[in-house]
Amino acid sequence: MAEPEPVTMDKIVSLSRRRGFVFPSSEIYGGMGSTFDYGHYGVLMKNNIRARWFEAMVRNRDDIVAIDSAVILHPKVWEASGHVGGFSDPLIDCRTCKLRFRADKLEDSNCGRKPSKRPGETPECDLTEPRQFNLMFETTVGALQEEGSRAFLRPETAQGIFINFKNVLQIARRKPPFGIAQTGKSFRNEITPGNFLFRVREFEQMEMEFFVPPDEADKWYRYWIDERLNWYRGYGLRDSKLRVREHGPEERSHYSQGTSDIEYDYPIGWGELEGIANRGDFDLTQHTEHSTTKLEYVGQDGERYVPYVIEPAVSIERIMVAMLVDAYDEEVVGDRERTVLRLHPQIAPVTAAVLPLIGKNDEMVGKARGLYEELRRRHSVEYDDGGAIGRRYRRQDEIGTPWAFTVDEQTLEDDTVTVRDRDSLAQERLPIADVRDWIEAALERDWKSPKES
Ligand code: ATP
Repeated sequence: MAEPEPVTMDKIVSLSRRRGFVFPSSEIYGGMGSTFDYGHYGVLMKNNIRARWFEAMVRNRDDIVAIDSAVILHPKVWEASGHVGGFSDPLIDCRTCKLRFRADKLEDSNCGRKPSKRPGETPECDLTEPRQFNLMFETTVGALQEEGSRAFLRPETAQGIFINFKNVLQIARRKPPFGIAQTGKSFRNEITPGNFLFRVREFEQMEMEFFVPPDEADKWYRYWIDERLNWYRGYGLRDSKLRVREHGPEERSHYSQGTSDIEYDYPIGWGELEGIANRGDFDLTQHTEHSTTKLEYVGQDGERYVPYVIEPAVSIERIMVAMLVDAYDEEVVGDRERTVLRLHPQIAPVTAAVLPLIGKNDEMVGKARGLYEELRRRHSVEYDDGGAIGRRYRRQDEIGTPWAFTVDEQTLEDDTVTVRDRDSLAQERLPIADVRDWIEAALERDWKSPKES
């Protein structure tokens, strides 16, 4: 059998657009580079990714609570965290082609004049010395642009967690080891955004800060690397496309006692999907110094210490790209080609489609609508009676719907429907009254990507 064609980023971008997952933003005004808007299926898929993360990080645990902090925090937060002074990338401009590059990523960049060359490789290249460029977006708060009104859009959600450490400790009555989790938009004025959603200027982060006694930090750091890796495996990312890369001391942030990236083999090569860092006591100590509020744990027996922090941090965008790439498949069935997203059923935007075989048959339509209305109370389901059944199936394949329930002539006789499996294309019959339980059970089953050889 011929080797399948590689899954390129172009294929993912094109499917995302064609099926309404992701649109280039502000298109009617000529577009705004590397900024995207999510369409219906994109929103549903993002909601699923966030919900699965929240289940694993908060709902199914006794030791982690949630928080939702403001996007615009007191400007001193970013001084204490080191972002005002140090959250910058070195950038280089080319005076000839007017492009801007990250000095530390020159080998991954293309010269504006000669796409196959790196910046600086052609005689016409005229590069500036590297300059530090702060990645935080600035804004002003209130009506007047005066001293003291300068503020920032958060470049990470983590700081909103640290500044609430005391609140959670007191009100949620927690004792290390315990964690605080948050999801929400973060903003970074990236010098070189690109590769679809992989590097964008606004993205939704999912971060959890796990506070531990200092002598347990290394144990928990290893624990969270394993947990997060298993989460990706559980939601179907192929093992062969995942790896953990530990940073060397020269690559680590100044505060980090250890950092590992969970990397995915994207079409652009191995890249950071999620970072897990042992941040030591840096953040709580910094905020204690700058705010003069002591952020520490004091036990009933008088024991006191500043906990160390283990942080798994990721964006929904990087997960979404990895999951779309991992799921994308093209195959020939009979004499027809089909594109199919082999997404984990709990990630797929639509869980089930309900289809009357003949859209003009009132009886079939009535039964199908009845089933659809019952299922949608609990699940994301779609009803479709337009066009040939084969076309309707292929549409559902392209958005990754794992199961399609079809109402046909036999349904009118014995109240059974067929269920078609997206991946195997197998069909079976079951009573219409059992469909809801069938879906519940199917969603609970372990799922492995059929692409894993
Ligand atoms: P990179 O080295 O790729 O710029 P980073 O090490 O700066 O990433 P972190 O600060 O560790 O990233 O951010 C935590 C997580 O947030 C990353 O693992 C990634 O999933 C996500 N993330 C960071 N920057 C972006 C971005 N510009 N677009 C989308 N997701 C991002």
